[in-house]
Amino acid sequence: MRTAPTILHLDMDAFFASVEQASKPSLRGKAVIVGGLGPRGVVATCSYEARVFGVHSAMPMAQARRLAPNAAYLVPRFGLYRSISDQVMRLLRALSPLVEPLSLDEAFVDLEAGGAAWDEESALLAGVRLRTDIRAVTGLTGSVGLAASKMLAKIASEQAKPDGLVLIEPGTERALLGPMPVRTLPGVGPATGDHLRRAGITTVEEIAEAGEDELVRLLGKAHGHALYAMALARDDRPVVAERETKSVSVEDTYDVDIHDRIRVALEVQRLADRCVRRLRGAGLSGRTIVLKVRRYDFSTLTRSETLRGPTDDQAVVREAAARLLDSVDTTGGVRLLGVGVSGLADYTQEDLFAQAVGERPEGPAEEEAPESADGATRPVERRWPAGHDVLHTEHGHGWVQGSGLGRVTVRFETPDSVPGRVRTFRTDDPALEPADPLPLVARRPDEAADAEGQDRSSA
Ligand SMILES: [Mg+2]
Repeated sequence: MRTAPTILHLDMDAFFASVEQASKPSLRGKAVIVGGLGPRGVVATCSYEARVFGVHSAMPMAQARRLAPNAAYLVPRFGLYRSISDQVMRLLRALSPLVEPLSLDEAFVDLEAGGAAWDEESALLAGVRLRTDIRAVTGLTGSVGLAASKMLAKIASEQAKPDGLVLIEPGTERALLGPMPVRTLPGVGPATGDHLRRAGITTVEEIAEAGEDELVRLLGKAHGHALYAMALARDDRPVVAERETKSVSVEDTYDVDIHDRIRVALEVQRLADRCVRRLRGAGLSGRTIVLKVRRYDFSTLTRSETLRGPTDDQAVVREAAARLLDSVDTTGGVRLLGVGVSGLADYTQEDLFAQAVGERPEGPAEEEAPESADGATRPVERRWPAGHDVLHTEHGHGWVQGSGLGRVTVRFETPDSVPGRVRTFRTDDPALEPADPLPLVARRPDEAADAEGQDRSSA
């Protein structure tokens, strides 16, 4: 194990809820709950003001409504969260090539590998600077943990919450861990916790005292060994930049070789779309786009391109796949094509994500108009998800506070305005239309040009 606290764990504070509060001035300082609002919905994130009522992530939404009936209940806006996550991850990648995202708002960084820190003092400095930079770029707060291992860096950031920094000095780990509940250790869920409690083990120190043999007897070989090592603060797990083994890909084999170059390009586009649907369905995004081509003579080529940040954007994947195809000679015919995305960031809130996606109205490009019995298409009824942005021709930018019974209530405010006024419209009011979220931090013109350049090169 290393001897300097150069592993950093960043965890943004109440991320989704904080984004909503930053973008909606009237919700600052209020209880905000973001999650699936359907009958089986669960809380994805809630603001600290909502936690006071006992609301927490993964709680059924119905229970949250009983505990905090007056909170603001909002449907997640993953596109916005992801774009802010990209900004944060970019700051982390500037510190080190070894950045391991755990979710949209959480990541490990190996500061030593990037030369950003080598001892306690430099690590502390890097952590302090990072928090300042995150605040300047996103307007949000994140908590930082610094330690000599991943386990302790994560424990440190938990202790730092909200809006703080904790550094665990090497050598003090065991004393710190000892009195903590067993659930503090990674891999100890409710079931293992119960199991240990029945054996009279409730703290980390008691795990260490029980000894390795007892742990193995209680929990089995793999789990027992691992837990005993963790209790002694032994954790050598490296920060892993990308999970190369993980990828999502789709391919098609053709009965008859395809010769027509335009047809090949169309097939690649179709495969890219299918791949993105799979990716999104799993709540994933990836950085490396891969094209696979098997030619008439069974020679197989793969070409790949790595973007600056993860994407699940259909247009981005399509374009990358098309560029890759440009570099492949297909004269003579093609018998198999495949498109994949690897270098995936997998999000711990995957289930919440998938659920919320199911409830989210899909964009018009992805949704086919429903067909009635006679095959004619019906107009799609307009939906106004709570919390989503709208634009009114007269009143400007706002967000949906609620809708029902043919009415939609909109609060007109923007991230840098004062708390705005509320107005109610008919759901089919032609003056009202869905809008894109506004940036949380207004950019100066020179910065805007800069960031655009970055976005372009990453796409
Ligand atoms: Mg967080």
